[in-house]
Amino acid sequence: MDKSNDEEWGMYDSQCVACDVYGRVNDLGLCMDCADKLERDLVRERDWEYSASGFLLSDKDREELRQQIIREHGKNLELIEPRRKSRRKKRLSFSHGDASRQSKR
Ligand SMILES: [Zn+2]
Repeated sequence: MDKSNDEEWGMYDSQCVACDVYGRVNDLGLCMDCADKLERDLVRERDWEYSASGFLLSDKDREELRQQIIREHGKNLELIEPRRKSRRKKRLSFSHGDASRQSKR
């Protein structure tokens, strides 16, 4: 594995909370695959405060990023469920930091 992106996120080995694959996960408990999907979903949903890639961008850049992702990956959500039915708070169950389970590197 390329060590350049190995350590920057404080990744550790665990089971991915989204796809149940055991391997390297990030601080949300997501494998790289699912983390990418989540990131794209957050951009699609314009959840900029949760989006690592959109957080620092201007509104204009965010829209461009969103258009680009939709062009490349489609507009359907990949990981999180569309929350159209219930307008309740975000259903990102895995983002409720379970601090006690977090293992130190
Ligand atoms: Zn996964």
